[in-house]
Amino acid sequence: MANKIQKPRGTMDIFPSEAPLWQKIEKTARDVSARFGFGEIRTPTFEELALFKRGVGEVTDVVQKEMYTFTDREDRVFALRPEGTASVVRAIIENGKTSDAMPLKYYYLISCFRYEKPQAGRSREFFQFGTEMFGTKDPSADATVISLADTLIKELGIKNVKLHINSIGCPDCRPKYRQALVEHFNSHIDELCDTCKERLKTNPLRVLDCKSPICSSIAKDAPATIDYLCEDCHNHLESLRAHLDAMGIEYTIDTKIVRGLDYYTKTVFEFICDGIGAQSTVCGGGRYDGLMEQLGGPSVPGIGFAMGITRLILAMKECGADKIEDNRPLLYVAPLGTPAVTKALEIVSKLRSAGIYAECDICARSLKAQMKYADKLGARYTLIIGDSELESGKAQLKNMEKSEQAEIEIDNIYNVLKEA
Ligand code: ATP
Ligand code: MG
Repeated sequence: MANKIQKPRGTMDIFPSEAPLWQKIEKTARDVSARFGFGEIRTPTFEELALFKRGVGEVTDVVQKEMYTFTDREDRVFALRPEGTASVVRAIIENGKTSDAMPLKYYYLISCFRYEKPQAGRSREFFQFGTEMFGTKDPSADATVISLADTLIKELGIKNVKLHINSIGCPDCRPKYRQALVEHFNSHIDELCDTCKERLKTNPLRVLDCKSPICSSIAKDAPATIDYLCEDCHNHLESLRAHLDAMGIEYTIDTKIVRGLDYYTKTVFEFICDGIGAQSTVCGGGRYDGLMEQLGGPSVPGIGFAMGITRLILAMKECGADKIEDNRPLLYVAPLGTPAVTKALEIVSKLRSAGIYAECDICARSLKAQMKYADKLGARYTLIIGDSELESGKAQLKNMEKSEQAEIEIDNIYNVLKEA
């Protein structure tokens, strides 16, 4: 026998038993987005590698260690997208969308690819729901984007999630903060992990984000960005807090939340879920007022977030919000003999065209086996047709829940079911 081929490490197969939960998340995300006036954007699964180097950042883990890059037949270097924002910004610039009415409000449901160590809530192909808003610097925009994420999380029935927010300042106030941070970590330089020793030179804010126990304990006493904010950044945060309070969105200020790159500005936030293990951030977002320019576009401020769908699923399971009603047929037609099979197909095809879920036997099973299968599917009604039913045009429609049956005209089945 030939060797069995397995899926690539860190990817997943989703079967119809699990897919309805994914569909519920996707549908709710689309519904909530529409209510906030966000429209769907679709961009390519792969892009020029250079886009992610500039849009995600050369010194980030994503670009340095996690990219799936490849060269095509003409030696162009591409990468599978590790996230959605860079592509959206590229598409906006390339299509001149910055001359549309502002703000631009887009959402996406995409798969992303990162070469990471697979574990619960962390895979190599993963799925994101994300939003991007461009063209407004106002804190009410930050509040709106956060409210969209909050609404979705609540509508999915996820309860054990907390919103953490922080401000990481702007290119005006950050240098002073960065200096204080470097001084703090330099006084513990020997204890830091090797990656953080490097990060301290290239991207010191990322040290705050390190998951190693020693680095995070040193980070505990590190200076906080919010103590170094300029007046503009301080006022921005205060307004955002007032807006969130007014909207009834609870949050805590968490000075450890950072985005380490210069084009990220002011607001950063995460929704963190208790009880789903180490990969507890279900949603990460923030403001990136410098990103459009970084990618060669005009200076247009932006804010957005991305949610990991598998982490939403873990969170839903954790609080019992993952129960979805089965898709049960309204009618199961059990034919006996070839002419009856033809009739059964005719009936189900009419019902399906009329929007009704109907099934009939397509395995040439015995009547007993058919009824067992109809039961397994949870069919609400069954209709048995054999030669005599075909001849009289009448058959017994059985209500499976009430165990009652009534004679009906076979060709009148749609009207009968419509009333049922
Ligand atoms: P983490 O610290 O968990 O690696 P991140 O900062 O790399 O997260 P972002 O780039 O902000 O993550 O992505 C936004 C969201 O996408 C995350 O909050 C998470 O829910 C999800 N996500 C990121 N990487 C993965 C992955 N490898 N597998 C599953 N979900 C992921
Ligand atoms: Mg990561």
